Amino acid sequence: MFFAVLSACLPAEVPACGPVTLVGRPFPSMEQCAAEAPRIAEDWLADRSPLTRGGLSCLPLSGLAALPVETPAPGIHVHLGQVAQFEDSPDGWIANLGFIIGRDSIAVIDAGASRQQGQALFAAIRAVSDKPISHLIVTHMHPDHAFGAEVFREAGAAIVGHERLADALQARGPTYLDNLTRLYGPGPMIGTRVVLPDSAVVGSLDIDLGGRVLTLTAAGPAHSDNDLTVLDRATGTLFAGDLVFRGLTPVVDGSLTGWIGWMDGARDGGPVVPGHGPVARDWQEAVGAQRDFLAALDRATRDALDAGLPLSQAVPAIVDALQPFGGDWASFPETAARDATAAYKELEWE
Ligand SMILES: [Zn+2]
Repeated sequence: MFFAVLSACLPAEVPACGPVTLVGRPFPSMEQCAAEAPRIAEDWLADRSPLTRGGLSCLPLSGLAALPVETPAPGIHVHLGQVAQFEDSPDGWIANLGFIIGRDSIAVIDAGASRQQGQALFAAIRAVSDKPISHLIVTHMHPDHAFGAEVFREAGAAIVGHERLADALQARGPTYLDNLTRLYGPGPMIGTRVVLPDSAVVGSLDIDLGGRVLTLTAAGPAHSDNDLTVLDRATGTLFAGDLVFRGLTPVVDGSLTGWIGWMDGARDGGPVVPGHGPVARDWQEAVGAQRDFLAALDRATRDALDAGLPLSQAVPAIVDALQPFGGDWASFPETAARDATAAYKELEWE
């Protein structure tokens, strides 16, 4: 299998370029790729002004950069992201991503932080299987999970998300894209666009990959207001998205009380793939530490409110109360203050 790889460039005094794998059109031979690559590159660039064509080459699948993946259960492949927040990462490739292979097709769970990371996930999938990629399931709006999505649309997948995902991406997507471009530079983000889901999950939805059913469940406001989980019924493996953090300080961007309530729901015993951090063997291992952290955040915030502290004094007081957790959670300093602010604004209205 061969792919055309375009160097797409932003015109500037010093042009910024990045590799774009034209995933929608695999070729059986190098010759065929070489003959057709110029036309498919022009087609791809047609609605992507001001991107222009730099180099163009044909590469075998083995020549594409691929994410490393592990296999925690049969047919389940997981890429573990760096356990860090964006500010502490060189490229933003921080989220866990995965794919599940059924008899007939493949579902991808989360697409990465940029087109480039999505392409590297695509290459990892194709290194394992050439079955059709029928679905991309986006667990929530955050860019580390959602921004590689267009790669999978080009590869033929339907994009599925929580019923509130589209609104959230429309509201926040452009700002996220600006922020990541400022943080990492335009080159690594080249070709990255905010794309909306094709279908929305209300309540729950089953997807059949051929003898392998995935149950998608939309959660209430918790980590974000559009969290979606994916249960592989064949192995009992739960992809929890960012409803479960391990090792990286949990980010509250939906509802603290909603999130604590979500963890109280009883779960079956299969492995849990968190949005960040290592795969957990079971539910208790998955959420034990996170429950302690969020309960402490809840307690410290209520103490600050009971003491009548205004937000400006409450945030440092809450962060101070959470300090004992600092050593166990990566990127604690930058996240704890954000969490304290979010928790205060939520709980002051109770
Ligand atoms: Zn998130």
